[in-house]
Amino acid sequence: MLDKVLIANRGEIALRILRACRELGIKTVAVHSTADENLMHVRLADESVCIGPPSAMQSYLNIPSLIAAAEITDSVAIHPGYGFLAESADFAERVEDSGFIFIGPRAETISLMGDKVSAIASMKKAGVPCVPGSDGPLGNNDKENLATAKRIAYPIIIKASGGGGGKGMRVVRKESELLESIILTKAEAKAAFNNDVVYMEKFLEDPRHIEIQVLSDSHGNAIHLGERDCSMQRRHQKVVEEAPAPGITMELRKFIGERCVRACKDINYRGAGTFEFLYEKGEFYFIEMNTRVQVEHPVSELITGVDIIKEQLRIAEGQPLSFKQKDITFSGHAIECRINAEDPVTFIPSPGEITRYHAPGGPGVRLDSHIYTGYKVPPYYDSMIGKLITYGENRSVAIARMEMALEEVVVDGIKTNIPLQRKIIADQNFHRGGANIHYLEEMLAAEKAESD
Ligand code: ADP
Repeated sequence: MLDKVLIANRGEIALRILRACRELGIKTVAVHSTADENLMHVRLADESVCIGPPSAMQSYLNIPSLIAAAEITDSVAIHPGYGFLAESADFAERVEDSGFIFIGPRAETISLMGDKVSAIASMKKAGVPCVPGSDGPLGNNDKENLATAKRIAYPIIIKASGGGGGKGMRVVRKESELLESIILTKAEAKAAFNNDVVYMEKFLEDPRHIEIQVLSDSHGNAIHLGERDCSMQRRHQKVVEEAPAPGITMELRKFIGERCVRACKDINYRGAGTFEFLYEKGEFYFIEMNTRVQVEHPVSELITGVDIIKEQLRIAEGQPLSFKQKDITFSGHAIECRINAEDPVTFIPSPGEITRYHAPGGPGVRLDSHIYTGYKVPPYYDSMIGKLITYGENRSVAIARMEMALEEVVVDGIKTNIPLQRKIIADQNFHRGGANIHYLEEMLAAEKAESD
């Protein structure tokens, strides 16, 4: 049935999707902007279509262009990858209305989960633990808002219901600052997301970011693939991810995994998805659901042996999941380092030509990347140029392999964050495991203070 899939994305994830399609005997259509005709997956795809100029607004976010490309190539389905239109309910709806299969959940599920207030409400209903909060949008009644904050107890965080990318959030530590902060966050949310609905949550001071990968088919089956720890973040952007999360017992995994599975069934979820939690003092607190494949999906693949992209394709085809929960076993440990074209100290993007490239290898080393010698990293898109993933029978073997792989890899001609990744992987606190979401920024600040 899935004879031909159009890949509505670029870079490493487009190549990853192409590889999965090839394995399943599915033909592929690459779409690209005029800046991207030399992308690796464009060369490998059965067909390719130029969808517009470099600006993402006019190419990868241009819905009519994407639909037209699917039409002229007789594609059957569209895989959105992550980023760009992957969580656009409007895109999902227009894809299906045009007679194509959207490889992801139904448009109404994307809408439900894309709005954080409605997502939290449906998770609470399904028995998923959430952060204590306002249980709904904040109204204009100052007295009520002050009372809500008092009940939750300071510090609290005001968050935009339509927010994303770590924007539209404000921490409030003192009652005297609450009302002003609500006004400011509302204004920011309106400007950034054209939606001024905000809500309130308890601000957790020392959490880890732990998320659960799920897969759900259209026959009412759902499974979880355990958790990932993505606490190593800078400006709310993940830098290193791993699975399993250090210190999470089999019982805890089962507890939280089963609740996510139940939630999938409750909301009639379809496809791959991730429930993101903050984890503090042994408790999970739901913060949001991502209704798409995530950058860090490979670490879960390596410890479970499940190919998440192939499952997405099968689910889209209407097939039942290839696995039942009892078939899923967790073995070994996997770590992913995101490789970005950026200065490792200032984080300023560093586009340009890769003059020399050498990929690391050896047992347990996986590199998901579209780069090659002579490839020019364009300045128009996200700076991630690949993901280095290592696997070992335990965490220390995965770390040792990552240290070696980061030493072997060569990317010349542009600046990359590889030196930073080497520091993180060599860090004693990283070795201990279980650092919180603030740790990396504290580590960077301490380093900066030392060099100043
Ligand atoms: P976005 O959709 O913008 O990524 P999230 O709700 O996922 O927003 O939150 C992003 C990050 O903000 C979290 O990973 C965490 O670092 C921080 N954060 C969000 N909510 C809280 C909270 N209640 N307490 C502490 N930190 C929070």
